Amino acid sequence: MLNSWEEYFMMKWWGWGDPNKSFPIEDKPNLWPWIKKTISISENKKIAEPVKREDIKLSPVNISEDFLSEIKQILKNDQISTTEDDRLLHSYGKSYADLFYVRKGIVKKSPDIILYPLSHDEVENIIKIANTHNVCVIPFGGGTNIVGGVDPRDQTVTEKGPRCIVTLDMCLMNKLISIDPQSQTAVIQAGVLGPKLEKDLSEKGWALGHFPDSFEYSTLGGWLATRSAGMQSDAYGKIEDMLVSLKMVTPSGTIITRTTPASSAGPDINRLIVGSEGILGVITEATMRIHRTPAAKDYRGYLFPNFEKGVEAIRECVDKNWIPSMIRFQDEGETQLAFNLKSPKKGIESIVQKQLKKILSVTGYARPCIMVVGFEGDDKQVQIIANEATKILKKHRAFSLGKGIGKTWSKDKFNIPYLRDYIMDYGVMTDVAETAAVWSKLINVHKKTIEEMNKYFKSHGDGTGYIGCHISHTYKTGACLYFTYAAKQIIGKEIEQYYGYKKIITDTFMKNGATLTHHHAVGYEHSPWMESEISSTGLKALKGIKNTLDPKNILNPGKVF
Ligand code: FAD
Repeated sequence: MLNSWEEYFMMKWWGWGDPNKSFPIEDKPNLWPWIKKTISISENKKIAEPVKREDIKLSPVNISEDFLSEIKQILKNDQISTTEDDRLLHSYGKSYADLFYVRKGIVKKSPDIILYPLSHDEVENIIKIANTHNVCVIPFGGGTNIVGGVDPRDQTVTEKGPRCIVTLDMCLMNKLISIDPQSQTAVIQAGVLGPKLEKDLSEKGWALGHFPDSFEYSTLGGWLATRSAGMQSDAYGKIEDMLVSLKMVTPSGTIITRTTPASSAGPDINRLIVGSEGILGVITEATMRIHRTPAAKDYRGYLFPNFEKGVEAIRECVDKNWIPSMIRFQDEGETQLAFNLKSPKKGIESIVQKQLKKILSVTGYARPCIMVVGFEGDDKQVQIIANEATKILKKHRAFSLGKGIGKTWSKDKFNIPYLRDYIMDYGVMTDVAETAAVWSKLINVHKKTIEEMNKYFKSHGDGTGYIGCHISHTYKTGACLYFTYAAKQIIGKEIEQYYGYKKIITDTFMKNGATLTHHHAVGYEHSPWMESEISSTGLKALKGIKNTLDPKNILNPGKVF
């Protein structure tokens, strides 16, 4: 029964993904020297490796015995856990701050009990009992969020002391319940991890098509609760666009929406639930729009002379409706990183590459930017869209890099998250920040963000830092900008440094008309900016809904606002 629980347990407590897997740095001999040079790391020894597991002390347990004895009547013993390993793994997500702390052996607060429900009815009973005993409940998918979304943060102290905190790990609710082929929908339990979901669907000839970079370790419920975006969002939309209906258990009862293609029955409650980050209820099941497994896939790479040219090319593809299923357009900074991620060419290939570089630099590609585009669908559709989109890209001076780069990108796409673990060992601070802006503001948001961060790098630490960006999701009205940055850790002030960067970058997004977050959600890390994002009245409306559905504030307290 505990198959997926055991699989889940294989994720590193101190980093990303499979403990037996690390970033394949040996295939990329240029990468570490380039990082060292870019952010002035002079030493070549590991200075910040994780402590040993046994050196981590968790907060004392605070169990509500009345709650637990009622829970034991509805769940089996192996669905209830209070072990130290289990509490540790549910104490935080995967942000830089989460990993920085745990690698040092610091875990501020752990949940007291972890429960593993198997069905919607069990979740309903758990929430009822928790509400009766004023016990906090944190819904937990894969724990991959990077905004502090699953951390125990309840500040409430009752006359009996602080409240007991329970984490509801949804991993056993991982079944594909049914498929309606005529309507192209599937009913799916919320705790399913990405790979199992796509495998179950593909065995029947279908696909969901949601591939966030965290795909291997994140869940359908987590994607819905954070309004996630996957790599193929240009073809299939963000997760909210794929949602047809759902069930969510709240302390005030269960919300069930209808499986219909569209509706005008008042405000859209599905859209209220997506992005609710576990503060309104527990999503147990969702009906999702699916599509047939694509017969043809075509991935290729292009080089643009600069960022602006590539943005114009994407905008024209979107405008004319010749939109690739996937676009990843890297600015100058990220292109340098991509070049250094490549295995070096040997022999004749390396000579050709050197010549090519020379030709490009004299023909105006001195600030080159790589674009990887993917086309998926049936053969004819792929051919037509690829031809038309390519014409537009070439009109904007795209230089073809062929299909090899597309293959390399596909092979490496789920390895990149492992790089953070590698560089953190050497005392490197690194983080990501994402936003979206309308086309008329996009270039300015990109430019200002790079400028502000570079200014900040100059005035902090040893004065160096790296920032790069890519465009990863496009819309008729604009696109998402995804920044990655890194600097040498300021020893003794690492967390101050992390929040310093976060403030600069987020303030810059907000000042220049972009959104607080395009897909990483709010958690507690982004909550200070929520009023600017949705206005004080908007915030009041959200708080009113929260208060109606969860009057005792037992669900994921301290998140979103
Ligand atoms: P968790 O982290 O477990 O939970 C996230 C939030 O959802 C919490 O508030 C939790 O309480 C709530 N929640 C979880 N399950 C439920 C449920 N069933 N009912 C109600 N609330 C629930 N995000 C993207 O969108 N696109 C990306 O490409 C992407 N890449 C990433 C790469 C890396 C390396 C990392 C570390 C993160 C990335 N993320 C990305 C962020 C993260 O993976 C997403 O936010 C993801 O949707 C979280 O899913 P999860 O199952 O891990 O949820």
